[in-house]
Amino acid sequence: MRRWFWLALLALVTLVAPARAQERLNVVASFSILADLVRNVGGNGVNVAMLVGPEGDAHVYRPNPADARKVAEAKLLFINGFGLEGWLPRLVQSAGGKATIVTATDGVTPLKLGSAPDPHAWQSVANAKIYVANIRDALAAASPANATAFRANADSYLAELDALDSEVRQAVATISEAHRKVISTHRAFGYFAAAYGIEFIAPVGVSTESEPSARDIAGIITQIKKAKIPAVFLENVSDPRLIQRISEETGARIGGTLYSDSLTAEKGEAPTYIAMVRHNIKALTSALGH
Ligand code: ZN
Repeated sequence: MRRWFWLALLALVTLVAPARAQERLNVVASFSILADLVRNVGGNGVNVAMLVGPEGDAHVYRPNPADARKVAEAKLLFINGFGLEGWLPRLVQSAGGKATIVTATDGVTPLKLGSAPDPHAWQSVANAKIYVANIRDALAAASPANATAFRANADSYLAELDALDSEVRQAVATISEAHRKVISTHRAFGYFAAAYGIEFIAPVGVSTESEPSARDIAGIITQIKKAKIPAVFLENVSDPRLIQRISEETGARIGGTLYSDSLTAEKGEAPTYIAMVRHNIKALTSALGH
């Protein structure tokens, strides 16, 4: 009888020990696209909270008390960097806590707009792969017990991103070169343009904060007419009225919505990074392709 007791206790201990190694790491990502990348690498080993949620605009975000709590409880805080999260230093200071800040763009070559880096680096899939490598290394360092799982998750996700990159290239190849020009609201697709060879013209600057002048808009309208640009696009983070007006004045049709800085909720058109890139490329090819 007594031996059974000890055996049962031993079995219980061996069951509990690996469960403890799988304790989830509390991490925070500054915005929805980054949170999705972290979830893909972290899998069951992490609880991912985010600050700027789906359909949110990271350029002009105002943190709330719940954000401060998330940061205070986190072991790692993943940020994009390149000036996207101007509101972050104050939040971290007021939140306290001991979160290590991990900058996902470390190692990405920035595109410059004047002296400032363009923050939208994730719009090139090759850059997203650098984000994933940084996330993998930070998670493995913070939770060595789960490092093997993080590396395996990262490997399979990186393979999906390779396939996605080829998909984008194949899709762009179906658009005739003369048609590889689009208008979007703010300058969020510079890295996409550089990587895949579609030209984006935007009346609003690199941050959604700035407002275009009447002269900027007139300039764009002239450009659209002269270059016979066939389509203009709305963005989920920008006011649609400007693009609607440009469409009316030029006859360029609205080719749909591009997701630039933010994912949609689960049931929307772009609930993950991969779904976002696929949605954008489909919108572009159906508006520009022949
Ligand atoms: Zn943006």
